[in-house]
Amino acid sequence: MFRIFKKSKKSKARVGIIKTAHGIIKTPFFMPDATRGFVKMIDNHESKKFGIQSVVINTLHLYLQPGVKVIKKFKGAHNFMNWQKSLLSDSGGFQIFSLIHKSGKMGSINDDGAIFKSPIDGAQHKLTPEKSIQIQFDLGVDMIVALDDCPPNEFERASIEKSVKRTIEWAKRCREEYDKQVKKRKIASQNFLPLLFGVIHGGAELDLRKKCAVELIKLNFDGYCFGARPVDKQGNFLDKALQCTADLIPEDKLRFALGVGRPEDIFRCVKYGWDMFDCVIPTREARHGRLYKFFPDYGRICSVKYIPLAQKSRMVNRKSKIKNSNFKIESNFKPQTSKFYDILNINNSKFRADTNSIDRNCDCELCQDYSAGYMHHLFKIKEPLGARLATIHNLKFYLKLMEIIRKEIKRGEI
Ligand SMILES: [Zn+2]
Repeated sequence: MFRIFKKSKKSKARVGIIKTAHGIIKTPFFMPDATRGFVKMIDNHESKKFGIQSVVINTLHLYLQPGVKVIKKFKGAHNFMNWQKSLLSDSGGFQIFSLIHKSGKMGSINDDGAIFKSPIDGAQHKLTPEKSIQIQFDLGVDMIVALDDCPPNEFERASIEKSVKRTIEWAKRCREEYDKQVKKRKIASQNFLPLLFGVIHGGAELDLRKKCAVELIKLNFDGYCFGARPVDKQGNFLDKALQCTADLIPEDKLRFALGVGRPEDIFRCVKYGWDMFDCVIPTREARHGRLYKFFPDYGRICSVKYIPLAQKSRMVNRKSKIKNSNFKIESNFKPQTSKFYDILNINNSKFRADTNSIDRNCDCELCQDYSAGYMHHLFKIKEPLGARLATIHNLKFYLKLMEIIRKEIKRGEI
């Protein structure tokens, strides 16, 4: 169940809660990816301690390894992972289609579903909309995503149109299978029903996004996702498509910006009305030694004002503290966005003998107990402890980001 508490007057941002069988989630929120049943480098005690509200597991990966039979023995993924907070599973479609689109030898897609070879042992499998829903029920998650036909954004319009058509047909089959499973499993209480999400496709073609949304909304899902990667083939963020797609989704439904993303993209998507985010960025970047850090006055994200490149050099000369950046904190609180943080590459030799903390304003283990110089040393010798501390730090950054965003919406600043 989703309830909105406050809607912004300045943008389409909103704050609310989702009630699931495994607790309440404050929205908007970010979910780390626990693809194979764990968030890389950290355990569930830490995840709970940080205040992570929900994580995303991957249907396909868990179906292949350890297999649904094993997870059913544990009565679901919550017990298997020992994670008693909310869980969302994606349909498995994105991974299968990426596999098939990369190499035709890995499988094929038809109107019934996808046939693919397991990357683990080469065994052949078939995933249909019905099977995806059944597996997600077996996983026992709180939020389920319908199987979609997920084409790369570089596909021609005709191919994207075909995928929209297929996605709509599969969404109908997912809806039917979901209703069937609820009856079959005798889930009587509304509180224990997993939320079901449809996926809106159409690439950067706004009319196709609209066509897809209109048909999916008829099926009355609990929420709707932005389908396909949120960037085009050049890596540009699909800003217009995300803005328009959010507008197509009814206000009382959840909006899940799948795969978004960078902090500034999350911020602007919140302003378009998106509530849910997941991405590998904070954990993957951490493993490469890239650490997120708010600029000093980070308490107000919407106050950060973009400074054009032409002014950069003058600014750097005057304010050495935030050199290497195109941005500056302004004291007037105009929500002009865009960048309110920096990324430090701890591999850089300038950190070799740096006795300072990475971020004195961060209360994570890394920033409280260790210096930048020690962190540089850990990465230099490829010690996994470095990646672990970096993961903790970056996840804290993302959680803090969402906390600030929720506060700013409540204060009417976003
Ligand atoms: Zn930290």
